[in-house]
Amino acid sequence: MRMLDQVLERARGRRAEAEAALFELISIPSVSALPDHRDDCRRAAGWVAARLRAAGMEARLVDVREDGHPVVVAEWLGRPGAPTLTIYGHYDVQPPDPVEEWRTPPFEPTVRDGFVYGRGADDNKAQHLASILAIEHWFANGGPPVNLRFLIEGEEEVGGRSLPDYVQANAADLAADYLIVADGSLRNGRPHRARRSSDRVRTQVYHRTLLACHRNSSLTLAPSRASGARCARQRRLSVSAFVCTALRIGTRFCRAQATR
Ligand SMILES: [Zn+2]
Repeated sequence: MRMLDQVLERARGRRAEAEAALFELISIPSVSALPDHRDDCRRAAGWVAARLRAAGMEARLVDVREDGHPVVVAEWLGRPGAPTLTIYGHYDVQPPDPVEEWRTPPFEPTVRDGFVYGRGADDNKAQHLASILAIEHWFANGGPPVNLRFLIEGEEEVGGRSLPDYVQANAADLAADYLIVADGSLRNGRPHRARRSSDRVRTQVYHRTLLACHRNSSLTLAPSRASGARCARQRRLSVSAFVCTALRIGTRFCRAQATR
């Protein structure tokens, strides 16, 4: 059996665990715009970092600005010579108001008609959690085919500066060959539709991408390493295999929706 098939089989066998993890994360009301939820934002960041660590990555919270929310930074560079893939996401959510319009409480995730309803489910907790789970399954099958880095911020919904400041200050250490902006809808199992999004870059892989035009063009990555054409195809395949896992997990287990 191909490695990718083994990974996907493991993911299928652990679908219930994956859903439980998603529900746990959605249950944390990490509303970045409301001061009352400041501790919840940190709790969500801690939850994501712990999950990344459990998956096999080195992860930490970085407090970039005194008035901001921490950035979760994680890295695994155990595949020398393979491309490095950076995955962007955000753990913060919009305020749920008006709460009375929700059919079920916004921070008590509920499944209806195969969709998960809860604030942040589709924007953006399911997406980056799918990538984290993909890593768990790859580690259980010999390790990911690519080097990996996560940058999960807590200020996307408020246009905060913590992540841009962090990236600018650490650009030399953040070189990547590919970037996924894991912040597009997975609804209807068709994440690729997000590619047609006109003004935001979403759920795509960018070879040698230096700039993610996500929110004010704020996430700028350091220049990628040069790679010879000879190995370019193999490198793309490695990345595709990983991304395939993340997207399949995302679309199969997280039919997630942020609305009511
Ligand atoms: Zn988002």
